[in-house]
Amino acid sequence: MTSVQVTIAATGKVLNVPTGLFINNEFVSSVDSQDKIECIDPATENAICSVTAGSATDIDLAVRAARNAFKTSWGKNVTGFERSRLLNKLADLMERDAQDLAELESLNNGKPVKIARDFDIGDSVACLRYYAGFADKIVGQTIEIDNKTKVAFTKHDPIGVCGQIIPWNYPIQMWAWKVAPALACGCTIVMKPSEFTPLTALKLSELIVEAGFPPGVVNTIPSLGSVGGAALSAHLDVDKIAFTGSTVTGRKILEAAAKSNLKKVSLELGGKSPQLVFESADLEEASKWAALGILYNTGQDCTAGSRVYVQDTVYDAFLEKLVEKAKALTISHAFDEKSGGGPVVSKVQYDKIWSYIDSGKQEGAKCILGGVKRSGKGYYVDPTSVRLLLIYALTAYAMTVFTEIRPDMKIVKDEIFGPVLSVGRFATEDEGIELANNTSYGLGAGLHSNDASQCMRVSQALEAGTVWVNQYNLLYNNVPFGGKKQSGIGRELGSHALDEYTSVKAIHWNYGEKLD
Ligand code: NAD
Repeated sequence: MTSVQVTIAATGKVLNVPTGLFINNEFVSSVDSQDKIECIDPATENAICSVTAGSATDIDLAVRAARNAFKTSWGKNVTGFERSRLLNKLADLMERDAQDLAELESLNNGKPVKIARDFDIGDSVACLRYYAGFADKIVGQTIEIDNKTKVAFTKHDPIGVCGQIIPWNYPIQMWAWKVAPALACGCTIVMKPSEFTPLTALKLSELIVEAGFPPGVVNTIPSLGSVGGAALSAHLDVDKIAFTGSTVTGRKILEAAAKSNLKKVSLELGGKSPQLVFESADLEEASKWAALGILYNTGQDCTAGSRVYVQDTVYDAFLEKLVEKAKALTISHAFDEKSGGGPVVSKVQYDKIWSYIDSGKQEGAKCILGGVKRSGKGYYVDPTSVRLLLIYALTAYAMTVFTEIRPDMKIVKDEIFGPVLSVGRFATEDEGIELANNTSYGLGAGLHSNDASQCMRVSQALEAGTVWVNQYNLLYNNVPFGGKKQSGIGRELGSHALDEYTSVKAIHWNYGEKLD
């Protein structure tokens, strides 16, 4: 069976969801495995359905399909105009199905439907259109060698078959960030979604067919990371792996690439991103950005602003405002249009977040907000829905806030990937910068100040791929995104992503010189 009917409990809507492997534009069973991936609704802990778990042999078949398409119907055999047309068509279909996709995303991931529809899918549609615009504008250079006899020019060829391995925190958006530039450049794809959230990648595969992409251009293999992800990374006929996920897995992928065919690798990894609040900052605004910076996507965000350092002189005033803002934010069920977040994605993630909250308390940090475990169904870290507030008598908060922290504490060093904020203090600008940079990660960083020269100085000194000034965590399809240090290699978004999916060829042409 390669599809099931899934009922969205809140609306009674029934969606047809593919559950097979998607190879050559068809949903098929595994050739040699009976393994299944059980998909769980994190809001209720109920099973949604199970999907086929692809084996290493299935990955190999998908790679062969992608290679064949690359050599025949795609790659250099299709014009940029046609790639652009198909990507725009895909964007239109995603926009048409935004509500269904959002409900499915919400069911499998836990995020509120409104956020999935308006932000994740809205941004993904825009991402497809942005790269559709590039598909017919990928051009090289003509380089002067010798005016009379020689010229050289460059071509940006599609790199080939790309393995794309994505996480569970933004299943649709990460899909779009990977698929759009790869297809614009003429690459073919074997997509491996996270085993926690494979449903929307499968649903989007239906749209690949409907849009008219030739068979084999995009293939989707749900699989465990240690099986399908490892097989893709080590495959000798995969030209590139684009990965988003943890630093631990990124290291394994780099190793597998080095030990196999030295395929090109781009890595978007974890973070422990700081925000600095200086005494000249608008504290009202800074406190809103700080609270949202850790709550967005229930903290399951690679750029979550999980460390906030505040200048001594405004520390108390800022903290008071931060707590006020944090108390006003809510997490609740998926169909609550006002919800700021939902449950976290899985039991594993829920337990991991709580073990960090416990460790913060044990290591001596002061928990000034949240940090109280609730009973009940669903992986809500701290449920604040109206219904639950009645039960918990206004004592539940959307996030946990720790103060009196030290650099050696686990909550300060490790990526928690949950709504847990550590707040520290500093006296001078240099001390603030040192605290902010005291991490092995370098993905995002923020600073709040009304002193323009300070904004310039500090934004240059912060060791991160993205620095936000007087705002936090906003991303745009036309601005590059990626990490320094152990947060990654390469860039997504913007024109920079095209470099990840092309290989530059230099052609030297002699049109006059004769050898003596
Ligand atoms: P993860 O590394 O466990 O899994 C990510 C993907 O890698 C999944 O598809 C998984 O199946 C696969 N995988 C697991 N083991 C593998 C292996 N040995 N070989 C190949 N693939 C393997 O990460 P996660 O728990 O799904 O996601 C959370 C992490 O992702 C966090 O650390 C977060 O910071 C990071 N993240 C980073 C960004 C970014 O853009 N920098 C964005 C989102 C998430």
